[in-house]
This record gives sequence, structure tokens and C-alpha cells, in this order.
Amino acid sequence: MNCLICNGQEYKIVRFVYDDRYGYPGIFPLLKCENCRHVFLQGEFSSDLLRDLYSNYYPRSTFNVENYQPYREAHGFKAWLDGKKSATFRWVPRNVRVLDIGCGFGESLGYHLARGCDVYGVEADENIRRIVDKLGYKVHVGLFDPNLYPEDYFDYVTMSQVLEHVTNPVQTLQGIEKILKPGGRAILSMPNVSGWGSRIFGKYWINWHAPYHLQFFSQVSMNLAVNKTGLIIEKVSTITPSAWLNYQWIHLATYPKKCAPSIFWSLDVKKTRIQKVIIKLLNLFHLTKINHLVTRLFDALGYGDSQMYFIRKPL
Ligand SMILES: [Zn+2]
Repeated sequence: MNCLICNGQEYKIVRFVYDDRYGYPGIFPLLKCENCRHVFLQGEFSSDLLRDLYSNYYPRSTFNVENYQPYREAHGFKAWLDGKKSATFRWVPRNVRVLDIGCGFGESLGYHLARGCDVYGVEADENIRRIVDKLGYKVHVGLFDPNLYPEDYFDYVTMSQVLEHVTNPVQTLQGIEKILKPGGRAILSMPNVSGWGSRIFGKYWINWHAPYHLQFFSQVSMNLAVNKTGLIIEKVSTITPSAWLNYQWIHLATYPKKCAPSIFWSLDVKKTRIQKVIIKLLNLFHLTKINHLVTRLFDALGYGDSQMYFIRKPL
């Protein structure tokens, strides 16, 4: 087996991980390439296995189409304190052609439309069909396929917390290169395995999220992957939603037994009264804004939990 990013052949096992949210059975080794420091989950993730994983374990959506609201503009101190700029769609200007890969329920699509953009989305979760039927958005339901679009077509492509889920990230980036216009930009966000969270919380870090998160990029491995595609990294930073730290404390306080679903993340498990009180207290603590300040501090130092890559296709 060679490293997907640099073809290196020497690894060490970082840790063994399991699904500590939804209880998918199995324990998976996380390997780190000794050459490019790319961290990845070892296993054969065939499309059949991934379909089983996402359709039978990821929580079924309780989303109500009537409640659909596009994202709104957010500026100023409160948006900064919340880490709103961690969302890649917020970096897309008005009046451009944009593709959002992994667009969820299309909240970003409504945001871009209101700003005069020509908007496309890709989403693997079938639940988006209900929004598409109602609002007529241009969404491909399934996996990203660059052949669905003309070459040199988009001004912007965004992926918010998506690249870590894919089995072949270099291929995904090559697809993005193909459909971007010369001078066009890709904006990607993903968990930061080199941040403070993975170091402090160890096995309890919320972003291991096995076996859904398959790739954890180091800056070296991301540079190598992007270089293989002819794209250029313009800027790297960490910008993290402050809510993640609230989830992290709750995850820590309600951590499940090995391979059992979490009472916090899984919709199927009933909480005890004590667990409900703990979650309530941690949500109250979040109102003190201490989580926000800690998150902003680590982002300022470049050790935040979510890293952002600003990428450009050369002219
Ligand atoms: Zn490598």
C-alpha cells in the first residue's frame, strides 16, 4: 500500500478509532505517512460499504422543508466571535458562477442566489430532493462528478468539511481543477489534525469521526495533493466555528462505550435525566462566550480545529 498523496510506503499507527457517534461496528487503524504526515483511515471503503455507512448509520434527517431558510449575511463582531467565516460559502463574492460540493439542504444555494450568483450544488444525501423539488435548485444528487459540467465553467467551487470524507482526494481536486475557470478559486475547509483539539482531547477529539472521516491533511500533504492538480494554494488559515468547542465538551462528558452509539450524536438513543442535565449545563456554559474566546485564540495562533485552504487555478 502506498500513501495516496505522496506514494510513500512507511507509516506508523497513530491510534485505533471507532464510530463514537452512531455506533457503526468495527475498529479502524489511523495511519500517518512518515513522509508527508498525511493521516488516513486504513480500510477498503468500497462504494457499497459507504452506502451502508451513510444510509443506515448516519442519522436520518428530520428536516422539515417548510422550515427551510437560506443562510443570511453575517458581519461584525458577533459573526467573528461565532467563527462564521469558517463556512466556505461566506468567501464567495456576488454575481459569480459557483458550485458548492456537499451543499447539505441547500442553505448556501439560497444565500448565493440572493446575491446574484449562478448556483450549482452537489449533495449525496437524498433528502435534498425535497428542497430541489420545491425551490428548483440546480443540484446533482450523488457524488461529485466533474464530467457533469463544461470545462473552465465555475468562478468558485466550495467544499465545507467535505474533502475529509472522500476516498480519493487527489482525484476530487483534479475534478475541481477541470471545471474551474482560469483564475477561478476553490475554497475548502476541513478538520485540522495538527490543531490544539486533537492534541488536548486525544481519542475524545470530535473530529476523528470514524469511519466517516477518511483523510486528515497536514499542510505538507495538502500542498502535495494540490500541486499534483496544477492548482495553487494562495492562503491557509484556521477558522473554527465556536459551537464546535461546545460539542467537544458534551462529547467528552457523554462519551459512549466502545462501538456503542453516542447519546449526544445519535438520534436513536434515549438520554438519562442526568445526561440531559449535563448537556443543559454545558449549553448554558456556552452562553458565557468562554468557548468563543478560546476558539478565537487558537485560530489566531494558527492551531484551530478547522483549517481553510484558499486555492486558485492559474490564468
Ligand atoms: Zn504520504
